[in-house]
Amino acid sequence: MEKGSSNPPHVLIFPLPAQGHVNSMLKLAELLCLSGLYVTFVNSEHNHERLVRFTDLQVRFSKYQGFQFKTVPDGLPVEHQRTGNHFMELVKTMKMVTMPIFKEMVQGMTPPLNCIIGDGGLEFVLDAAIEIGIPVIHFRTVSSCSFWSYFCIPDMINAGELPMKGSQDMDRIVTTVPGMQTFLRCRDLPSFCRVDDMSDLDLQLFTNCTRQTLRARGLILNTFEELEGPILSQIRRRFSNVYSIGPLHEHLRKKLIEQKHQTHQSSNSLREVDRSCLSWLDKQPSKSVLYVSFGSQAVTTKEQFLEFWHGLVDSKKRFLWVMRADSIAKRDGEAENYPPELVEGTKERGLIVEWTPQEEVLAHEAVGGFLTHSGWNSTLESIVAGVPMICWPYFADQQINSRFVGEVWKLGLDMKDVCDRKVVEKMVNDLIEDNREEFVRSVAKMAELARNSVSEGGSSNHNLNCLIEDIRLMVG
Ligand code: UDP
Repeated sequence: MEKGSSNPPHVLIFPLPAQGHVNSMLKLAELLCLSGLYVTFVNSEHNHERLVRFTDLQVRFSKYQGFQFKTVPDGLPVEHQRTGNHFMELVKTMKMVTMPIFKEMVQGMTPPLNCIIGDGGLEFVLDAAIEIGIPVIHFRTVSSCSFWSYFCIPDMINAGELPMKGSQDMDRIVTTVPGMQTFLRCRDLPSFCRVDDMSDLDLQLFTNCTRQTLRARGLILNTFEELEGPILSQIRRRFSNVYSIGPLHEHLRKKLIEQKHQTHQSSNSLREVDRSCLSWLDKQPSKSVLYVSFGSQAVTTKEQFLEFWHGLVDSKKRFLWVMRADSIAKRDGEAENYPPELVEGTKERGLIVEWTPQEEVLAHEAVGGFLTHSGWNSTLESIVAGVPMICWPYFADQQINSRFVGEVWKLGLDMKDVCDRKVVEKMVNDLIEDNREEFVRSVAKMAELARNSVSEGGSSNHNLNCLIEDIRLMVG
């Protein structure tokens, strides 16, 4: 709501401090502001400083009455790595360091809070809110299929389907996840299931926090009924008030247009965006470029990086590749002498940058395919843009997302657990050329369903209205 009206509900939103979480929860925050709610958005100090440095976020949100940012420490030293394996460290330090500060902040808030929308990955937010007596709705930024598989882990253990029995067991079908009995293999389960010991701390952490959502008043998912309807039905057997309101980036874009706000070039990036790749794309033929990005967290080995690079160059297709400074595991003392044919091939047909405006890149006319790590935001962004995918999942929910993309939704190819230049070359050619029509047809259909779901009368639009209505009922 623009400045001027009175007495709306006050909602606090708290994401896990990682790119995909912050991005989608900021979009939800803006949707709630547009509906007239007061919103307090909590960032880690580390992320907030980056958002202020790299985006126009403060200006964008300053037009909403009752909106404010608050910051909390995440418990890690400023220069500490927060990506790859370090991400789990962050989740653990927050519980110790951030929780007491958060509790104090919430109790002293004016106007008083009516509801907290907490990231389901931050268990302590639910504990603190229940102790203080504020209703909590959980937001899970992952797909419904991955949320549901996490929820079913205790059943898999009871049925003896977990732990997996080594690498020879990876293609066994898992039968205890309702709705997925015919196609879910061990290798498609969230990566934290790949352990021998079921009391493994990371596995326990994800299983527990998924079960904790049963204590929340509701569950928000960044998905849409037409994509994940059968799995959402399974989730609704165990959870009440499930609001599927995605794809959030498209939902927000639509609402901003309806309310005649500017929509151009807004970004929630925690990194500096290199927009020069858009001018490079302008010079490439239609649908000729493969966009390559493994998101904000994935870290490859040097060997994997070289297999991808060979595969891309050997495919003879054009490519735009996001290579973050921290994307490759460091090997001390090793000189960076790259094979000249790779450097030459890239000069001819490729561009490597540190960070792109991804939504704009995927929407660009020149982009014909996406080699992705199957992060949930990236998957939704690709679907909305109608771009077919090659999936190379790295960790967490990505393993199951890529199975759904390849086997269930038929929106691309799943390259899970393989990193071989010949396979990369073949899949790139399949996607961009040989079987292009088939993939483009199914993604275009899904893109239309996504757009309809966030339009007037669509399922996600309806569910967002229900969410807002339910929050309004929490006032007083
Ligand atoms: N992203 C971006 N520029 C890039 C790479 C990624 O803006 O060069 C954004 C992307 O649009 C997405 C987010 O970063 O919204 C990554 O989230 P995702 O859930 O796909 O993966 P994660 O980073 O959490 O593994």
